[in-house]
Amino acid sequence: MTRLIFLGPPGAGKGTQAQTLAAFLQIPHISTGDILRQAIQEKTDLGKKAQSFMDQGELVPDKLVEDMVEERLKKSDAQTGWILDGFPRKVTQAEFLAKLLNSLGQGGEQVVNLDAPDETVITRLLGRGRKDDTEEVIRRRLEVYRDDTAPLINYYSDRQKLLTVNGNQSQEEVFTDLKNIIAG
Ligand code: AMP
Repeated sequence: MTRLIFLGPPGAGKGTQAQTLAAFLQIPHISTGDILRQAIQEKTDLGKKAQSFMDQGELVPDKLVEDMVEERLKKSDAQTGWILDGFPRKVTQAEFLAKLLNSLGQGGEQVVNLDAPDETVITRLLGRGRKDDTEEVIRRRLEVYRDDTAPLINYYSDRQKLLTVNGNQSQEEVFTDLKNIIAG
């Protein structure tokens, strides 16, 4: 049973790798960013609440994403494993997740830290052309990553859950390293 959390700065290639690995392992790829973008497109309540935060590169409030993740992890396809991409993004969310997994009986999760230097992630983000990828928003997202999300590296390494993969390589090389590292 594979339960993986993907960590890493925006632009490290998390989304692509998480999606590819999930397809390879035949488990759901659960991206909180994708779910939120979908909600915005469908103009749901959740989408309306999340939009302004996302447009500015800020995190949306914990409660919104936590409810979303709880609902998603309770679905039947998530009972045979999953890859979480974009959650948790701060220590309070990690604490929520630990309790949730415990109550769902879904333990043994591992965390993949996909690491890449600032120059690499900035170049990649500027080339990506997503709506929330303007230079100012990118700068803010990197700041939020450094202040709120990067502390999760220590959080998970203290709990012996952290695996690190060098994201500063070609997609194929990263994928090879990923498969090797999760095979233990
Ligand atoms: P992503 O696609 O993972 O880069 O996420 C895009 C945006 O969605 C982020 O910049 C946040 O505004 C929001 N978001 C995604 N996941 C979370 C989360 N776990 N907590 C708060 N906001 C999130």
